[in-house]
This record gives sequence, C-alpha cells and structure tokens, in this order.
Amino acid sequence: MTDRKTELARNLARVEERIARACAAAGRRREEVTLVVVTKTYPASDVRLLHELGVRHVAENKDQDARPKASACADLDLTWHFVGQLQTNKAKSVAGYAQVVQSVDRLRLVSSLSTAAEQAGRELDCLVQVALDAESGARGDRGGVAPDGVGELADAIEAARGLRLRGLMTVAPLAGPYAGRQRAAFERLVELASRLRAAHPAANMVSAGMSADLEDAVAAGATHVRIGTAVLGVRPQLG
Ligand SMILES: *Cc1c(COP(=O)(O)O)cnc(C)c1O
Repeated sequence: MTDRKTELARNLARVEERIARACAAAGRRREEVTLVVVTKTYPASDVRLLHELGVRHVAENKDQDARPKASACADLDLTWHFVGQLQTNKAKSVAGYAQVVQSVDRLRLVSSLSTAAEQAGRELDCLVQVALDAESGARGDRGGVAPDGVGELADAIEAARGLRLRGLMTVAPLAGPYAGRQRAAFERLVELASRLRAAHPAANMVSAGMSADLEDAVAAGATHVRIGTAVLGVRPQLG
C-alpha cells in the first residue's frame, strides 16, 4: 500500500473501532450506524483510496470543490452527501452528483432543489438541518432551521416533486443552552426526529456526530455520523 493508503486504513480502523465500541455500549447493532466520511479540502485521489478501503458514503460542504471531485470519481459506487450551507443558485449543480442533501434549511432551497432534481431526472434524499441554538423563526450561524421550523420544511419537502424527506441533521451548537453539551443536543435531535417520523414514517435518518463527538451521537441514537478529521487528518484550513 502507498503511505497515504496505509495512513487512511489505520485511521479508518480507529474510527471503525470507536463506532463499534459506542454501538456496543449503547446496546445498538453496528449496522444501525452508517459512516459518512467528510472529504472536504482533500483530493479526489483520497476519495479513491477510501473507496478501495471500503468506504461507500462521502460528504462535501462546498459545491465548487465537490463537483469536480464527484466527477473525477464518477466510476465508483459512492453515495455523495452534501452537508454545507447551500445557495439556491448551486442547487442545480448539487443535484447533478449528490444523492443526499443533509442541509435543507429554508423553503426557497426546497423549491430550487425540487426544480433541479426534476430537470436532472433524479430523486434527491433530503434531511432538514436543525440549528438547536437558533431562536424561533431564525436560522443558525452555520445553517439550519430553528426546531419549531422543522415541520413546515418537512411538509414542503414531502410535497415537492423529485425530493424525498429522509430525516434530520444537526451540528452540535457552539452557543446557547446546548453549547458543550453534545450528548444533550443529539438527544434533542433524536427526539425531534421521532416526532417527525410520526407524520413521515420514511424519515428515519438522524445525522449527528463528527470526529470529536461521534460517541455522543451513537449513544443518542444517530443513524449517520459524519467524520472528516479522524479519517483524513487535520484540515490545512477551516473548510
Ligand atoms: C467538516 C464537517 C464534518 C466533519 O467534521 P470533523 O470534525 O472533521 O470530523 C461534519 N459535518 C459537517 C457539516 C462538516 O462541515
């Protein structure tokens, strides 16, 4: 193996062990949690190595970086997740390669994604991004809708052609009552998700947890963890 492949394999094994241990501690089966590797700022060659090592879900947060990477890896059976703040004028591009958009946080984005998905002849899986620190009616600094806005967005996604409502996503808040309380934040997300599932049974994805807090997410009941740094290394700049 190349040096980089050996490094990625070792990191992946460590993350896999953390997920397995967290599942065991929570009395959950390992298959209940999907690892999504966040490849932002890293090259397509790393995505290719990760695929060789068995990774099938990757995520990006900027369309201008994601689009060429996805295109360079179009021959691989990968599911691409979009997890960043998304401008409506990028919806068309994102709908061209992403199967999952985890960061749906406003009605205008729902209609842009719907139009884009229809034009591309594709179905997009959508998660509503929740900002647990946002005030009622507001959006979070890093994207996301306030908890009381989830229902309206979920209904809009469900009604939109080309889109499938699949669940909720959050990033642990840096401010507000959940700052530094990842476990409580993720439990709140899981609670919001089970409420959502009562009205939308297919919305069974709960995306929470990153490199620093994946154990909290698994304990709370997350179905998808989004791991960047722990697999690929510390990013050269904020991405
Ligand atoms: C970058 C990013 C991650 C991964 O974060 P790490 O701390 O590097 O694991 C997860 N989710 C989102 C939305 C991100 O932007």
